[in-house]
Amino acid sequence: MADMQNLEQRFESISVQDENLDINAAVTAQHKQKGSLSHAISLTNLSTTTTTTTTATSQNRLKLPLQKIPTNAQAKPSTLTKITLPSQAAQQQRSSAESRISDPDPIAHLPSAPTAKPKNWHLGMFEIGKPLGKGKFGRVYLARERATGFVCALKVLHKSELQQGKVEKQVRREIEIQSNLAHPNILRLYGHFHDTKRIFLILEFAGKGELYKHLRKAQRFPEPVAAQYVAQMASALKYLHKKHVIHRDIKPENILVGLHGEIKISDFGWSVHAPNNRRNTMCGTLDYLPPEMIKPGREDNFYSEKVDLWSLGVLTYEFLVGEAPFEDSMVMTQRRIARCEMTVPPFVSAEGRDLIKRLLVLDPEKRLSLEEVEVHPWILRHCAKGGEGKK
Ligand code: ATP
Ligand code: MG
Repeated sequence: MADMQNLEQRFESISVQDENLDINAAVTAQHKQKGSLSHAISLTNLSTTTTTTTTATSQNRLKLPLQKIPTNAQAKPSTLTKITLPSQAAQQQRSSAESRISDPDPIAHLPSAPTAKPKNWHLGMFEIGKPLGKGKFGRVYLARERATGFVCALKVLHKSELQQGKVEKQVRREIEIQSNLAHPNILRLYGHFHDTKRIFLILEFAGKGELYKHLRKAQRFPEPVAAQYVAQMASALKYLHKKHVIHRDIKPENILVGLHGEIKISDFGWSVHAPNNRRNTMCGTLDYLPPEMIKPGREDNFYSEKVDLWSLGVLTYEFLVGEAPFEDSMVMTQRRIARCEMTVPPFVSAEGRDLIKRLLVLDPEKRLSLEEVEVHPWILRHCAKGGEGKK
């Protein structure tokens, strides 16, 4: 009880501008009904009938989500409902072990991760520290698991807000996918629990914050730094694609930086587990969208994991130039993406330019593969051993 009071005080001392957190009531509720970690996703009180989607846009880079543009996004409002999310049960039924997105126990071999699962997490197990940031739906706090002293980030999502924003599916997807991934350049999701009002995500703590902020501060990254980041991205994407996960929302805003300067892909709200690697749902933010996702009026507008290769090209460009290659008015951005109209400024090295041009290719099949990215001369020149990640 003393612990809970303590916790309450910690929460009370936290000040985040938009506070309808109602932490006291929630903590009281916590006494009555402890949250539980559910391995099969069961987020109570959340409706599952949503068809509308909302793209989380950065406050700094205000672009409307593609769904608002009168292209085939409007023509196929129900596409998203067709995504069958890889619930744990469904995964167990999959015949091929190779194609599972879940490792047998991805957390177990991490020495510093919270202790073995399954575990019935609840709020009282964490000491809550300073707020790390506030997103559209979530507030994130530094936290420490009391039992082990393990430092993590606790993301608090209000069920009512998720419902209002019609993003329950997105969150469900984020949890299902991210909790089954373990790679040094992908932000870990160690577990989740909920109480009557809120969902808590136990995330890896990314000590150096948002890559976007580092980029804005630096304006553009020196080539060796950019190349390290691109190599790490390639390593992480290779891992994701091997597990048939397409991220679909690669951009600096969705990348965090770890204590050692390594990048951590986060935000799996738009990612999708696509066993046959082909989806036809519209999503993502305009600047980073590949041409095959913006072609208007095509019912057979399928795309594959190669969308992430295009986005990697856009990212490489933005790292080296400081702005995205197709940044323009919305209509013009769409048009320029469809024609791949962009110029690489002369200060970019010939090798850097070559990599960008081999990734930003209209035909998805002709884009450089991730394996080829990893041995591209620009990467080899700047990265002794390729990416941070596992090969
Ligand atoms: P959106 O709601 O549009 O996705 P967002 O990605 O910024 O926005 P959150 O994921 O809720 O929202 O995170 C809010 C902020 O908290 C981030 O921008 C980042 O600065 C910080 N943050 C989030 N997760 C972590 C983490 N694991 N480690 C360190 N800081 C984090
Ligand atoms: Mg986010």
